[in-house]
Amino acid sequence: MDLSKDIVNMLEMLGSHGKDPAGGITRFLYSEEWVEAQKYLEREMENEGLDVSFDAIGNLFGTLKGSKFPEETVLSGSHVDTVRNGGYYDGQYGIVAAFIAIKYLKEKYGQPLRNLEMVSMAEEEGSRFPYGLWGSKNIVGIAKKADVEKMEDSDGVPFVNAMTRAGFAFRDEEVGMRDDLKAFVELHVEQGNVLESEKKSVGVVHSIVGQRRFNIELTGQANHAGTTPMGYRKDAVYAASQMIYEIISAARVHGDPLVATVGEIDVTPNVVNVVPGKALFSLDIRHTDKDALVSFTDELNEILSKTAKVHGVTLDVNMWMDEDPVPMDQEIVDIMEGYCKENGLNYKLMHSGAGHDSQIFAPQIPTAMLFVPSRDGISHNPAEFTEPADLAEGVKALIGTLYELAYKE
Ligand SMILES: [Zn+2]
Repeated sequence: MDLSKDIVNMLEMLGSHGKDPAGGITRFLYSEEWVEAQKYLEREMENEGLDVSFDAIGNLFGTLKGSKFPEETVLSGSHVDTVRNGGYYDGQYGIVAAFIAIKYLKEKYGQPLRNLEMVSMAEEEGSRFPYGLWGSKNIVGIAKKADVEKMEDSDGVPFVNAMTRAGFAFRDEEVGMRDDLKAFVELHVEQGNVLESEKKSVGVVHSIVGQRRFNIELTGQANHAGTTPMGYRKDAVYAASQMIYEIISAARVHGDPLVATVGEIDVTPNVVNVVPGKALFSLDIRHTDKDALVSFTDELNEILSKTAKVHGVTLDVNMWMDEDPVPMDQEIVDIMEGYCKENGLNYKLMHSGAGHDSQIFAPQIPTAMLFVPSRDGISHNPAEFTEPADLAEGVKALIGTLYELAYKE
């Protein structure tokens, strides 16, 4: 099957809604472009003969009814929103892939035993409002009106107004998650460089990393850079630099899949001739294993307090994010791997270092993900690119997986 042309064409059509003159796609939740994109998908699904519906908040579903188990649904798709100047693949590839997979399966095998359903989820990125995974959190029934109703975008537009103008409303929080959903499968671009470096076309994801994020604040003493001898200083930047060096070195010793990143540093007073009295830095650590995250947290706390003491600075550590790793469903992972092996797909079993809608589904229903490579590991950028041949390999793996889940007893 040569699917690459169909995939690329549909990505272009969908990507024309929200094409940004400054490059890539900007398609924020409930924007005009977002509405157009959902309407385009709605038409495509209708033309394909799927039963199409929106939920209250604007997730779009298209269903191919099952013959034998109409009370069971296998769901596949991804998010339709993008970051500002996002790429042509993040999110929308998973939607296009689900559409093409269902179309192919219908043409080749006819009606499935279970409902086969695609979804174009309203929002994942948290780009317009400071709230991510809005689409999937509504599907599983954990999003709350109270989480977002006071939010505004950067232009001061209230969340509620944006939602209403797009034609949607809050869901009824009395009603829980749909009970027909039996599995969720998401195909997504890797957004990293592992598959490309290892020259693989498909990633079978066995888990999504857990993350912890910290703000670490050091207070020493601001003083004259000329008249304060080295031995009399409480230099917050000197202390911070040693901490950062030691924490990152420790992470390097542990190695994959642990990652540690200091991406933000703020110095006070941030002046050339003053010994800095305050330093604040961020720390982001990720691992697929919760115990490893906990023990690395102990290790870094030890580094921080020991170093603070040596430098005579006071230390304030604030862990403001603590998300557990999410394992994917082993049975679906086995199905994916089995299909790749039997059909000679060039695949790799791997973890996801980024968060996805799948992490919201996984605690509720059997869930798994497939990846395709991202050129140079670039994502959230107009330069995002995946070879059409790899796009097709990913959809093949999705077709094989959905066939096992929806067409087999
Ligand atoms: Zn995404």
